[in-house]
Amino acid sequence: AKEAGRNAYRFFDETMNSEVVANLSLRNGLRRALDNDQFVLHYQPQIDLASGTVIGVEALIRWQHPELGLMAPGRFITVAEESGLIVPIGEWVIQEACRQAACWQRAGLPKIVVAVNLSAIQFRRGDVEHTVVRALDASGLDPQFLELELTESILLQGTDSVFTTVRELKKLGVKFSIDDFGTGYSSLSYLKRFAVDKLKIDQSFVRDLTHDSDDAAIIRAIVQMAHSLGLRTIAEGVENENVLEQLRGFGCNEAQGYHFERPMSAEAMSDYLEKSRQS
Ligand code: C2E
Ligand code: CA
Ligand code: CA
Ligand code: CA
Repeated sequence: AKEAGRNAYRFFDETMNSEVVANLSLRNGLRRALDNDQFVLHYQPQIDLASGTVIGVEALIRWQHPELGLMAPGRFITVAEESGLIVPIGEWVIQEACRQAACWQRAGLPKIVVAVNLSAIQFRRGDVEHTVVRALDASGLDPQFLELELTESILLQGTDSVFTTVRELKKLGVKFSIDDFGTGYSSLSYLKRFAVDKLKIDQSFVRDLTHDSDDAAIIRAIVQMAHSLGLRTIAEGVENENVLEQLRGFGCNEAQGYHFERPMSAEAMSDYLEKSRQS
């Protein structure tokens, strides 16, 4: 028994070590990825429910890993945050999204807003305001076509610097939305403090909307409150027509999800925008 216990302990220890090693090599990999341009942005359309047309896209990062192929952000964002690498990675995302949006506009494609995800660590350790201003300058993108998606953890930091950043960028015309809305625990007080433009209703409420009357009640309440406050709403994770119909009935403004399109490469997005112009 003693022997088995020692083995069990050693096994546990080695598992922990291999996890540390894996994270370390992931961290080194992320640094190399930055230097070697291995990150790419994919884009997912956001559909205006009144007109049925695309009015925005969300930029979603992927890592084109030399051995492992295309990696979803769920596999590396946490390590990027823990190592601080999210700051330069996040800067790249903002620059690339602005560059691409300006490029689509110059090509004469329909003018759409590009929405960019920000991490709380980026706010804590980086200079978001300066980064955004520089990216707008460098790309020539009109600020009204950039939207920044804030998470509750950013707003809960409650620091003056977050507040100032939002205020100053709003003055330029940059838009703000609150991502994953409804999943946090104090979602309402910061709506008063931060003048955001849009609430993104979290997928967890949207997914089973047609089968779960609680989800339906929550979404209806969010939409009503948002409209009373003069905010727009977008539902994410819309996967079928029934969900879409119900969202329409609630007066939700926009929708995003696999029902319309999955996130796609910039090239595929160009074709999509080209087609949406013709229809
Ligand atoms: P998120 O911001 O909540 O993004 C929505 C996620 O849902 C995306 O996953 C998207 O591909 C997925 N999705 C969209 N429509 C549907 C649908 O109809 N059904 C389902 N099941 N999923 C759908 P993705 O691209 O893997 O991104 C995961 C998360 O990684 C994002 O969640 C966001 O928190 C983070 N992320 C992505 N890009 C960035 C980035 O550039 N910077 C930072 N800091 N975080 C990012
Ligand atoms: Ca998002
Ligand atoms: Ca979300
Ligand atoms: Ca999320």
